[in-house]
Amino acid sequence: MKDAHIVLPIQVQKAISRLENAGFEAFAVGGCVRDSLLQREPNDWDITTSAHPDQTAAVFSDCRTVETGIKHGTLTVILDAMPLEITTYRSDGAYADNRHPIEVTFSSHIEDDLCRRDFTVNAMAYHPQRGLVDLYCGRQDLEGQTIACVGDPSTRFHEDGLRILRAIRFAAVLDFSIEAKTAAAIHACRSLLANIAAERIREEFCKLICGKGAVRILREYHDVIAEFIPEISACVGFAQNCKYHQYDVYEHTLHALEQSSYDLATRLAVFFHDIGKPLCHTSDAEGSHFKGHGPIGTQLTEQILRRLRFDNAMIESVTQLVDYHDRAFPAEARAVKRLMQKMSDADILRLMEVQRCDRLAHADAYATPPPTLVQIPLLMQQIREADECFSLKRLAVNGKDLIALGWKPGKEIGEILSSLLDDVIDGKLPNDRDALLKAAVDKHKSHF
Ligand code: ATP
Ligand code: MG
Repeated sequence: MKDAHIVLPIQVQKAISRLENAGFEAFAVGGCVRDSLLQREPNDWDITTSAHPDQTAAVFSDCRTVETGIKHGTLTVILDAMPLEITTYRSDGAYADNRHPIEVTFSSHIEDDLCRRDFTVNAMAYHPQRGLVDLYCGRQDLEGQTIACVGDPSTRFHEDGLRILRAIRFAAVLDFSIEAKTAAAIHACRSLLANIAAERIREEFCKLICGKGAVRILREYHDVIAEFIPEISACVGFAQNCKYHQYDVYEHTLHALEQSSYDLATRLAVFFHDIGKPLCHTSDAEGSHFKGHGPIGTQLTEQILRRLRFDNAMIESVTQLVDYHDRAFPAEARAVKRLMQKMSDADILRLMEVQRCDRLAHADAYATPPPTLVQIPLLMQQIREADECFSLKRLAVNGKDLIALGWKPGKEIGEILSSLLDDVIDGKLPNDRDALLKAAVDKHKSHF
């Protein structure tokens, strides 16, 4: 194997030198070493050192520092605008609640620090002069594209159940396979995920689902996913006996996901789009039907996303995409304006993509996406460019105008404005102040 050479950012080099000049050891470690060897841009640069946190703080007393996890020996130092997580060599004692070490012991040996790390590819350290410290064949596993635990997988998962999800997340993101003993322990220990906070599960799941190898991992580890999304169990192997489909519900979903871009909201919507199907199934001489699976799936998706503590904006986008995934929208300006009233432009583009992915995963004879999926975004662009009216905000009159004409504030004004907007969208009225005010007076006479 060639000598590993990593170009460390100048701030990382400086931090290592400073610690060494003060009499300590220091190395770049973990994800940044892994990603650099893979020629990927690291998310963050971590440093491991023999200095205790108070000693690290003294070495960087001229820098801004954040006590990120001082109990676990981590201090974040901002060096020339780059945040660096500097952690004291440590070994973890016994674990509580399958997640947190009860106590950590600082060490003066890097070996102790590397052996507490989760996977061989994450357990390498690098020093600009001393080179790579690789005690667990991490480099070999990188070349073989393998995720393997440091030590006995079952023991490591019992210490910290989150590692189960981290293993399949790394396998999805790096598009790696999982070593056999590690894979067996992931399945066997999956119930330990019950002890992990929803936020941590969400973070890992989001990275996983956007990974290059996501479909393969979701297929192989659906039992693990079902630990926190039990609703998918019913989809796995659920046959769709109808001419439109050649796969069961879960396989169809995975084939659809195979077609999707790496945008998180789109991928979540594709993953959940048919989750309501098993609950809506009926069958007759023609085969299976899944009437109403959109709305039921929308409810299930909302419950799942809330449980996993997604933010409201993401919940709103994804549930709306699931809700609309099987509705046909004509490529007509009126229909597109109504869609623009309800959804952001970005979500309309996502909806087109969800529908395209869904279609491409149908039985061959039905796997052609309709041309409307291309025409609707074009119409949307034209409507934007012509600055046409599709929302109350863009209507040439507002509530204040009507109040100025003598209307009393209240529900009635809202109803009249909506009705004027409908007429503008339908092309029955121009978006012109005088014309709209006159129409408002006429509507008032005829309706109230
Ligand atoms: P990324 O930042 O790309 O998500 P990473 O490998 O840097 O990946 P971090 O969560 O930033 O992951 O953790 C940094 C390093 O700390 C890891 O590479 C690993 O060595 C170690 N580590 C993180 N979480 C755990 C854990 N739950 N158990 C054991 N070691 C861990
Ligand atoms: Mg990291």
